[in-house]
Amino acid sequence: MVSGKAIVMDGKRLAEEIKETVAAGVRELGNFGIEVGLALLLVGDNPASKQYFLATKKAARKVGVTIYEYVLPEHASMGEILNIVNSVNRDEQISGVLPLMPFPARLDTRRVVNAISPGKDVDGLGAISIGRLQADEPTFFIPCTPFGVIRLLDHYGINIRGKNAVVVGKSLAVGKPLANMLLAREATVTVCHRQTGDLAFFTRAADIICSAAGVKDLIGGPMIKEGAAVVDIGINVLADGGIVGDVDFGSVRGRAGYLTPVPGGVGPVTIAMLLENTLKSAKRSASP
Ligand code: NAD
Repeated sequence: MVSGKAIVMDGKRLAEEIKETVAAGVRELGNFGIEVGLALLLVGDNPASKQYFLATKKAARKVGVTIYEYVLPEHASMGEILNIVNSVNRDEQISGVLPLMPFPARLDTRRVVNAISPGKDVDGLGAISIGRLQADEPTFFIPCTPFGVIRLLDHYGINIRGKNAVVVGKSLAVGKPLANMLLAREATVTVCHRQTGDLAFFTRAADIICSAAGVKDLIGGPMIKEGAAVVDIGINVLADGGIVGDVDFGSVRGRAGYLTPVPGGVGPVTIAMLLENTLKSAKRSASP
């Protein structure tokens, strides 16, 4: 890997490329009178969920995907939410469903995600999609954020096979599926989390570091092996409304070979992967 000042991985640009391909696919289906529809399910007032809702709507509009909005108040019941999921599952106009996380804490999020038909689970987080990914079986959809991370690494020609990879964070949405995907590509993978005693011990030996902890400045320059690829998945909102990742960009940039910025790194690619998955779903239901 290249050493010295890191190459900044431009997620925004990669996302634009992916979205252009998606837009072409949507137009192609449109020629046959087929619409591509995505349902967004927003419950309550969480600012992160709302922000993702708006960003997805904007990106979908640009590529010609029709958004079906289901916006419920903070006090919505499980029954109301599951009714919506069931009706969307039956709606032939809708190719995918995205519940915007986090939901209000009192709700059983996994029950909602698992109620989505696997053929419309475009975020790939239902038990069937996750289980198939883990079993190395063909799955309908790969979870968008880890899928985006792998796409970024591939786009920049970063070799995964045989490399030491550290994933920081073990959530079902990001850390676990990403670790699996890196393992499937034959990296030697270490998963670190909040109980990991000496994080730097692991990161210093890593060729690839992917951090999804949601902790500002968790990864600093001295924790990085010279020339490593560092992917910052974390999103931390500052008091002034600004957004930073988990990585101290300034100090890591001097040692890493490749580095993603926040914003403009993994975030836009995640949305592009969601739209790509939605198109894939529409194509599957359109084919005889
Ligand atoms: P989560 O809260 O479910 O998981 C966080 C993980 O980080 C946990 O496994 C925890 O053990 C670990 N962790 C916390 N503090 C740590 C520490 N000090 N040292 C080591 N590990 C630590 O969160 P999540 O849903 O996986 O999201 C993680 C981050 O990624 C958040 O900032 C979230 O906003 C962001 N995110 C970004 C995207 C994107 O598209 N860019 C998508 C999803 C999540």
